[in-house]
Amino acid sequence: MLGRGVLSRLHTLTQQKTHTLTVYLDIDQNKQSNRKRGYLVQAEAMLKELRLQHGRSQRLDAAAERALDLIRSMRPSGKSALVVVHPDTDLAEIHQAGLPFAAAAYWHRGAFLRPVVEAMDENERYGVVLTDNKRARLFTAQMGELIEHEDLLSETSQRTRGVGPDQWRAQKRHDARHQEEVALHAKRVIDALHDLSLRAPFDRLIVAGPPQATGQLVRLLPKRLSGKLVETVSMRVSADCKEVLSKVLAVQRRMEREQESKLVEGLVAELHDAGKAVAEFASVLDAVNQGRVWKLFYAKGLRKEGGECKECGAYLPHAVGPCVYCDGEVQPLAQVIDRLSQTVMEMGGQVEVVDGPAAEQLKPLGSIAALLRY
Ligand SMILES: [Zn+2]
Repeated sequence: MLGRGVLSRLHTLTQQKTHTLTVYLDIDQNKQSNRKRGYLVQAEAMLKELRLQHGRSQRLDAAAERALDLIRSMRPSGKSALVVVHPDTDLAEIHQAGLPFAAAAYWHRGAFLRPVVEAMDENERYGVVLTDNKRARLFTAQMGELIEHEDLLSETSQRTRGVGPDQWRAQKRHDARHQEEVALHAKRVIDALHDLSLRAPFDRLIVAGPPQATGQLVRLLPKRLSGKLVETVSMRVSADCKEVLSKVLAVQRRMEREQESKLVEGLVAELHDAGKAVAEFASVLDAVNQGRVWKLFYAKGLRKEGGECKECGAYLPHAVGPCVYCDGEVQPLAQVIDRLSQTVMEMGGQVEVVDGPAAEQLKPLGSIAALLRY
């Protein structure tokens, strides 16, 4: 798993004068194009382009070969993979992550870890409690990974029905005791949740289980925990981890869509003469060229053709003809959006790839826009 420990080690080890190769790969096996090692083709293409960008370098060639070896021997299980190779110190590692990262390759001083660091900061941790009347399981989920922390069992008696008319008194006593036990169990679960929130603090809480049990638990949640509650879901207490995780991811996606929509609304509000935002491909390219982009937004899957000036390196909305900045010769540039994202991130900016309603909001703006630094 790609945790903070791994990141800080990679960061420290690659703080050398010589360059480090960093590759982000999309290895999601739910995508047809990634099956049968399609991601290897993707990696080869990116590394080829990186070598073209940097000219002849034996160190880069060696690093690229080493990276491809690692990718070839990987068994894909995550959504993305991070490869870091620093030839001089013999550092060569591959790590899979449960989150998607934009595919890209970098040849820099130091491993380029900002996308992961940012994802970690932005990825809220979810606490999940899955409970019925006697059993409760506690989980946390972050960055697409689920950890089960506890599985507790209370001695709640079965709720039975008496038969004879003379048994009603006994039945009533039994029911009362059952109710008490159920409430006691719910309190135990809340104590355990409290403990978990201290050990592994979470930002949001999901309560899952049969509706009767989740209803009871939610009613008893103290303010501190109920403030984090985002959803109650119906689920068997014996559900496997895969099922729990897929529910968490669905809730998370919904929350992200809502946040994205808010961000895009904020951006649209800045789209006026004195505002700090631009929209449409050509204006965004111009802002990137000027180093003014603070946050780049584009709709997931957006493809654009464009060019790059051979002289000044500026990005242009046209693939041929003279550069508008220096009159230099423009050459066609494939994967303009990827290159733009890379440039924005290298300049300390952020990239928001939006989907769903936020992408719809961006559509009339050419599906691409940016918030500016000034
Ligand atoms: Zn130029």
